[in-house]
Amino acid sequence: MSIVVVGSVAYDTVTTPYGSAEDTLGGAATFFSVAASYFCPVQVVGVVGDDFSDDDVAVFSAHGIDTEGIERKPGRSFRWGGKYSQNLNERATLFTELNVFEEFDPELPPAYRSASHVFLANIAPQLQLSVLGQVDAPQLVALDTMNYWIEGARDALIEVLGRIDILVINDEEARQLADEYNLVKAAEIIMEMGPSAIVIKRGEHGATAFLGDDVFSVPGFPLRKLADPTGAGDTFAGGFMGHLARSGEHGPDALRRAIVAGSVMASFCVEAFSLDGIRHLDEDQIAARYRAFQDLTRFGDL
Ligand code: AMP
Repeated sequence: MSIVVVGSVAYDTVTTPYGSAEDTLGGAATFFSVAASYFCPVQVVGVVGDDFSDDDVAVFSAHGIDTEGIERKPGRSFRWGGKYSQNLNERATLFTELNVFEEFDPELPPAYRSASHVFLANIAPQLQLSVLGQVDAPQLVALDTMNYWIEGARDALIEVLGRIDILVINDEEARQLADEYNLVKAAEIIMEMGPSAIVIKRGEHGATAFLGDDVFSVPGFPLRKLADPTGAGDTFAGGFMGHLARSGEHGPDALRRAIVAGSVMASFCVEAFSLDGIRHLDEDQIAARYRAFQDLTRFGDL
């Protein structure tokens, strides 16, 4: 089993109530790959500029991530800047510099085409379709998107939704995509567009998943230390897809365990800036927090 992920590889400048970080490694595909790499082999597709440092390439190699699909182009890497509110639930984008990402035309190396699992991170739906056209016969395809594409490329997004299995999205985006405030009804509307499962990320409130007829919720982990939520959604998706690929199962129980694995990885992500919370984990730490999640929601009979 292996996962192909396509998405941004970036430098982020972030301010939160707990500090700030300038031009640190980020990007949806980066957070996803590192999180998923704890569970299964990962092949990443993206583009960086000639300013992308060897130290940052080393972050991928240290996790055994295949970077043959990261193209290096003349120019600057994608840059994003954001500032979080006091309660971390809201963030303002301060700038988005597409740079080499503007002309991104993902091309999968031949070795990537037989991937069993595919994650289409938040990029133009047209590019997500192009990647889908380049993989042979994946067992499972999941996708993330954002308000920008829901508003600006709705038709292409609906087309790609018709060809995927799982949508991983945040609550506001689910409401916007379905044009329905109630999340249960929104999930039903979105499932009619194609995906058989919807995983809704709800920030500090955890995640709720609609898995066919099954509904599953996991709380956000109560953390004493919070630093930076950037990348938590992509990290969640990485843990989720990584766990599914490792188990090789896609039934309701496997999906539930994978959602907890995603929540475990996201809880580590928010404890530090950039990738610092997920770069140096080991299996024991991941397993211990998985058990802590189990304890969090264990209760007896009425
Ligand atoms: P998240 O906090 O999970 O929404 O992901 C934040 C990451 O997404 C940051 O590392 C950014 O570099 C990246 N990002 C922000 N805006 C975009 C965009 N328009 N397209 C692709 N990636 C983005």
